Amino acid sequence: MGSIPDPLEDQKAQPQIIKLVTQPAIQTDPCPVCSSQLFPYFHGITDSVTGRQFDVLKCEGCGVGVTHPFPEQLQPHYDGYYGSRHGITANYRAKRRIALVTKMAGMGQGRHLLDVGCGEGTFLQAARDRGWQAVGTELNPDPARRLGFDVFNSLEECADLGPFSCVTLWHSLEHMTDPRAAITKVRRLVADDGVVFIAVPDFEGFQSKTFGESWLHLDVPRHLYHFTATALDRVLNQTEFTPVAHWHQEFEYDLIGWLQSALNKVLPTPNVLFDFLSRKKLRGTLMDRVVSGIAMPIFSFVSLPLVWLGAFARSGGTLLVAARTSGQRLASGTGD
Ligand SMILES: [Zn+2]
Repeated sequence: MGSIPDPLEDQKAQPQIIKLVTQPAIQTDPCPVCSSQLFPYFHGITDSVTGRQFDVLKCEGCGVGVTHPFPEQLQPHYDGYYGSRHGITANYRAKRRIALVTKMAGMGQGRHLLDVGCGEGTFLQAARDRGWQAVGTELNPDPARRLGFDVFNSLEECADLGPFSCVTLWHSLEHMTDPRAAITKVRRLVADDGVVFIAVPDFEGFQSKTFGESWLHLDVPRHLYHFTATALDRVLNQTEFTPVAHWHQEFEYDLIGWLQSALNKVLPTPNVLFDFLSRKKLRGTLMDRVVSGIAMPIFSFVSLPLVWLGAFARSGGTLLVAARTSGQRLASGTGD
């Protein structure tokens, strides 16, 4: 006896057909770090600035995440984004970072330091106070220039200023359209005994695994890449750097990561508390704001040991690596 097609079954089957049609197109794009295959990982992450949704693909080899699709234009996703987001903890952060630089590279003693993505110049000030001749790159160079620093729009413009004994990328690499090309350019600028510092969110840390699509530090599509330690070390090795030290937290990044990601899990509007702390225009309903305000002290109390645990287990919200040069400086114009 022949079976009658069930129209409901056809409707159920349709998403799978779409899935089969769309997935191979995604998977044909190789990983930009190790050329392995990418597979769908996070789906439907809302950009808190534009409301657009993005996915994150993950490499089956090095684990790097790739925002999908790449936005055709990045600028609309940065409108109103920065505000004073680094204001509250900027000085504390700069002191902590320059202490790490001093530990690994010594005092400046007139040597050259380049801060890639220097923001408002707070770290440049801390470096100058330790004797570094500090310059930066930044898409919006005016705030740091007002502090008296030379700030450039691109790494190419810094070519004649090197070699630099220290280059720092504090949460800037994940914003770049081609991270390996950027580190290759950095390599050409670094002195033979130089040190590079890179800080990024840890895509394989406890926070990322706990919160998934709700993790604050995914920050799509401004974060185009989502690094693991394996992927970051691989990029460094490919560009003639040798990773020499790893750290697994930046305290305020990790703390707000636990706080806001937990709130993102339960509230309809993302990043309400983060926007308030960053002094940005407030969004969300009254309920979003009240719940965020009440939760802040409670969640902070709970999050503090989690920040410590993440660092202890080498699986925090933030990944920081220091690397030294591992060969001759690349000649200008060579490399990939
Ligand atoms: Zn890979």
